[in-house]
Amino acid sequence: MSQSSGLLLDVLSRMDEAATRLKLDWEIYKTLKSPRTSLTATFPIRMDDGSVEIFTGYRVLYNYARGPSKGGIRFHPDVRIGEVTALAALMMLKCAVAGVPFGGAKGGVTCDPTKMSMNELERLTRRYTYMILPLLGPEKDIPAPDVNTNEQTMAWMMDTYSMLAGYTVPGVVTGKPFELGGSRGRSYATGRGVAYVTSELLQRLNMSLKGATVAVQGFGKVGSNTARFLHQEGCKIVGVTDLSGGIYNENGIDIPSLIKHTNNEKYISGFDGGEFVADYKKANEKLIRSNVDILVPAALENQITEENASEINAKVIVEGANGPITNSADIILSKKGKTVVPDIVANAGGVIVSYFEWVQDVQAYLWTEDQVNQRLKEVITEAFLKVWNIAEKHGTDMRHAAYMEAVRKIVEVTRLRGIFP
Ligand code: GLU
Repeated sequence: MSQSSGLLLDVLSRMDEAATRLKLDWEIYKTLKSPRTSLTATFPIRMDDGSVEIFTGYRVLYNYARGPSKGGIRFHPDVRIGEVTALAALMMLKCAVAGVPFGGAKGGVTCDPTKMSMNELERLTRRYTYMILPLLGPEKDIPAPDVNTNEQTMAWMMDTYSMLAGYTVPGVVTGKPFELGGSRGRSYATGRGVAYVTSELLQRLNMSLKGATVAVQGFGKVGSNTARFLHQEGCKIVGVTDLSGGIYNENGIDIPSLIKHTNNEKYISGFDGGEFVADYKKANEKLIRSNVDILVPAALENQITEENASEINAKVIVEGANGPITNSADIILSKKGKTVVPDIVANAGGVIVSYFEWVQDVQAYLWTEDQVNQRLKEVITEAFLKVWNIAEKHGTDMRHAAYMEAVRKIVEVTRLRGIFP
């Protein structure tokens, strides 16, 4: 079985457990066990050298009972339909826990963007948008950035959609450049949210953020901004990895300098503020085992498995990435008494500010950066506290509690709406 369908099985079995524990109406609940719409599109792209390459892309609308479906688009060589479906289901759960009025979706194209030019990426993005066009719309399905996609990708998607509609439709995607109707604070919102949630968690565990040691796996949009905000709060970031390797410094890495370095050089390699391990695999093993207070996996799914979970020394794990811990690893971590803040709470800051962006687009009224950050703090803290309290009440961990809250809400909406026809 591929790793990606493993994530889907993990998500579905956690949902089943939540529905069983809450004794939900199974006839209604079982409608959540498969996606509403899955689109697979295979299409040609003219490459810069004149050759034609065939690409496959997907968009899965897992569920839209609570509102338009919402979720990012990822460009990565490992993108497969099973993975996209699992990530779409996670978006459905995330939006429900965060209390934003969206369903869940995810999209992706199997490609290696690191080997493609800007022009090739633009043609790929526009053709992919065209292929999934029937699904899209500000009241239907609203993409956003994810792994290896960014504001520019969203600008191309928005433009392609708008050209074909015949007028400009800013609300069809979120995570756009500010000049095109993007929201202040969206680009770093996920990392900011991870930092807010970490701060709330530490207060409850009687640990202090000041001086707390942190290891961050992945230094992309989520990892770098999480490191930046935790560093601002006085945490000591002692280990960071990315595709080029890992940097370790017991005295704390100078995160603003490392961000400056990666802005110019793309990867963390070549930064001289710590000991560098060039082998990606070894660097990650070392990071995952580090003796730290907080571990933030902020790269891809399935990073903490039954193979390495028993070696984790961190006291708490805050999931910046989607699906970084497998079910079997969860069991090991819970036996070891580790506290895990699950992805659908910890990294909800991105979709929360996406919701703010969509509201601003629909109303054509822009908020200030302070308003966005303040409201993000309120919404994500409320979601965290709700899940924390459910976990206490039911004597379970935060993952189970978050799934219980999400599944309960979606089943309730589905019950109210009834089964069509
Ligand atoms: N890709 C982000 C996530 O996984 C954000 C999705 C969105 O804003 O729609 O949560």
